[in-house]
Amino acid sequence: MSVCQNLHLASPEVCEEIIQLFEHDMLTAWTRSILRPSEICGLLVGPHCGHWDIYSDWNVTLPSTPKPPVHPPVPPRPGAPTARVLFLTDLHWDQAYLPGSDPACSNPLCCRGGQPRGAGAGYWGTYGRCDLPLHTLENLLQHLAAAGPFDAAYWTGDIPAHNVWQQSRRDQLHALNTVTALIQKYLGPLPVYPAVGNHESVPVNAFPPPYVHGNQSSSWLYNAMAQAWRPWLPPEALATLREGGFYTLRVWPGLRLVSLNMNFCSEANFWLLINSTDPAGQLQWLVKVLLEAEESGEKVHIIGHIPPSHCMRNWGWNYYHIINRFESTVAGQFFGHTHVDEFELFYDEETLSRPLGVAFVAPSVTTFVSLNPGFRVYLLDGAYPGSSHMVLDHETFILNLTEANVPGAVPRWQRLYGARETYGFSTAFPADWDQLVRRFQADEGLFQRFWYLMYKGHPPRQPCRDACRKALLCALRTGRAGDPELCRPLSQELPFREIQARWRLRRFC
Ligand SMILES: [Zn+2]
Ligand SMILES: [Zn+2]
Repeated sequence: MSVCQNLHLASPEVCEEIIQLFEHDMLTAWTRSILRPSEICGLLVGPHCGHWDIYSDWNVTLPSTPKPPVHPPVPPRPGAPTARVLFLTDLHWDQAYLPGSDPACSNPLCCRGGQPRGAGAGYWGTYGRCDLPLHTLENLLQHLAAAGPFDAAYWTGDIPAHNVWQQSRRDQLHALNTVTALIQKYLGPLPVYPAVGNHESVPVNAFPPPYVHGNQSSSWLYNAMAQAWRPWLPPEALATLREGGFYTLRVWPGLRLVSLNMNFCSEANFWLLINSTDPAGQLQWLVKVLLEAEESGEKVHIIGHIPPSHCMRNWGWNYYHIINRFESTVAGQFFGHTHVDEFELFYDEETLSRPLGVAFVAPSVTTFVSLNPGFRVYLLDGAYPGSSHMVLDHETFILNLTEANVPGAVPRWQRLYGARETYGFSTAFPADWDQLVRRFQADEGLFQRFWYLMYKGHPPRQPCRDACRKALLCALRTGRAGDPELCRPLSQELPFREIQARWRLRRFC
């Protein structure tokens, strides 16, 4: 409690509520934990005090069958079918959003009461520490036609708002069911494939692995998800969803989807204090799914909430091994959580120089913090025998809040940009994104364009230059946490420690 107050993490009322919320589960995890004092210090205070997963080195078992020969991706033949996948992430519906209320309050989430000093919270959303009202989410779903038609939708979590100090299981389930029903209403028969975000639970980030049973387990959440998402997922997928919040299914012939529960990689998930070795056996399961796909000639898309570079080191490095081993099978990786528009490159582990994968990190629907609402569409090499199912291009759509909140204005969801036209790609394969990071180094104008688009057309007032820019370019090359080698080709003088400190500054989601 005193730490919360002394560090000015929040107001005394918020501190008190948040501690009540965390206390019980946190103590259970603590007493069952196998951590040493230095690890606990690393968890609570930071990496200069101790590393909390350093003693639990673990490795997934990769198949004994050799990796198939690698062929660089080739563009589809002209006229080959393409597919469009709608991508929604981080909706963050605020059940208490109040137009006209104070957008600059002292709580972690605003626009939900209080007298504003200047302009109040906008009707459609606000540039500030605010999430979205339901009518903005509904308006988005009503205006998707111009971006479609779609062949499928991926939806990577974070449904409730950021009022994490006062949420209950009832609130979270109400958000899950209300938003799912809204999506079903407007997308109709379109198959939607969800992933579990870190905000779905209560307290936030708390996802006990399956060995925790009874009332403290996640079954209240996963069972409700299985119920709500039954129209979209087959019975086998619902079974693993109930168990661990992850699943696999066939999207269409030749393409398999894996939806990961990335909360099992997160150092914010204090339940992993008990044991952080491949929680729920999820990565070993992923290896099995990928091997079966490889043997049957399927391609695989991986979706998840938290992007791999934000994972604990051990989990992230194992995931990197898996992407390396199955580079010919994994055709796409899609994440959210950071709320901004970015990507993370994967390289071959032998030389760290050949780009073999890219994890796309799509911008949020929510405005949190000071963003335009937005969504993404991926254009894929489509469903036909021999298709690569790789991403050929992507487009981002936004609602410009300055325009939308003018009294009498009609909200207009507009196309912000397309990746290929903006960056002058002929394809959008991993090698193109690798080249792009190198081009950013030489071309200030192109980098500033990326910075503007990264924030969905509403970048922070302070421009990104020098150290900010170096840290960001390094992040784009980094598909696994804590690896300074990945940034060496950028030949920067900025110490890696400083780069990491800058990354931590913008983790607010
Ligand atoms: Zn989020
Ligand atoms: Zn998140």
